[in-house]
Amino acid sequence: MDLRIDVLEDIKQDILKNMKCPLKDNATNLVFGKGNPYADIMFIGEAPGKNEDLQGLPFVGKAGEQLNRLLNVIDLNIDDVYIANILKFRPPNNRNPENDEIVRHTPYLIRQIGVIKPKIIATLGNYATKFVLSGFCVEKMNKVLGISQIHGKVFLVHFNDISFKVVPIYHPAAMLYNPNIKESFENDFMMMKKIIESSSKDNS
Ligand code: URA
Repeated sequence: MDLRIDVLEDIKQDILKNMKCPLKDNATNLVFGKGNPYADIMFIGEAPGKNEDLQGLPFVGKAGEQLNRLLNVIDLNIDDVYIANILKFRPPNNRNPENDEIVRHTPYLIRQIGVIKPKIIATLGNYATKFVLSGFCVEKMNKVLGISQIHGKVFLVHFNDISFKVVPIYHPAAMLYNPNIKESFENDFMMMKKIIESSSKDNS
């Protein structure tokens, strides 16, 4: 029996049975998460897009291609990380998440984090970054600086009974719209690599 897989499955079933949100009614699939439930590194994105909605998996479209590419650059692949989103269902036309949606969806994300207990969380883009660095509090999200000011820096966060490092990274989709972000995105991944290496030294 694999405890983490079972607990994640319980959370997933809870969303399917009990979560109430108009996004759920209009989505094709729940996009819960993917990757290794025992990973030390967790990525948090914003919300599923069209391909994610169709396949029921996060980061399987163009943004996912960029994410995979950079994971490979730092010698990681999907089996080394766990990936989930702030929103569990696709917003219409990929619009930004609204506050009440973040409030409805993130209790499940917080439960996922509680199961994975990552040592490092990479937050992709403004929404994930602001939510995690606000102490998981929607009302305080607007007090957190924007991604362009804090990407590539490292923050130590204590939440419930766990502590983890947070590395804000530009959202991979932003790079598709704005090629100037490409270099920052790649530098942020190199920073992640350093943090991963220093964390594994701490543990040896
Ligand atoms: N963008 C996200 O933030 N998440 C996905 O799953 C896909 C694209």
